Amino acid sequence: MELYSGYINRLIEELSRLPGIGSKSAQRLAFYLISMPEENVERLATTMVDTRKNIRYCSKCYTLTDHEMCPICSNEKRDKKTIMVVETPRDLAAYEKTGRYEGVYHVLHGAISPMLGIGPNDIRLKELMQRLQEDVDEVIIATNSSLEGETTAMYISKLIKPTGIKVTRIASGVPVGGDLEYIDEVTLLRALEGRTEL
Ligand code: ZN
Repeated sequence: MELYSGYINRLIEELSRLPGIGSKSAQRLAFYLISMPEENVERLATTMVDTRKNIRYCSKCYTLTDHEMCPICSNEKRDKKTIMVVETPRDLAAYEKTGRYEGVYHVLHGAISPMLGIGPNDIRLKELMQRLQEDVDEVIIATNSSLEGETTAMYISKLIKPTGIKVTRIASGVPVGGDLEYIDEVTLLRALEGRTEL
């Protein structure tokens, strides 16, 4: 596309790499950015770079944070003996929003998917097993109810069973394949309270 100058073309190209941004949206965003006051563009760019540079994984639960440990893991009031396993930091945020879960989390950063070639070693499973050497009463598996989420839940439960730690699965009722993030808090709470032992 040689309609615009090299700079604009590059900006459009970079923006169109973002998820959900097609070439039309990328053009619209590019022209919007160009029309913004320079200091606002600078602030946006700096925020993006700073965030990317300073973000890291919590050394316990592997959610994204800017400290060694996330606020949940470093909160003394949280019950460290109950670990809820979720696929993404967004799922963690969804459960946190209910305000009723008092345990801690473990973020897998994905789910096992033979179809996509994602195996147990490609998610933070080893790290979960390491945590179970500490004093843990229950592991709640809250992966999505998609095929990948169910496969992952089965795999984890088989892995944990021999340790004697209680393993539960959140109740279905969470729509199949539904992103936990978009499910309302009442549904999440019901799924959590109705969890069953695996
Ligand atoms: Zn943490």
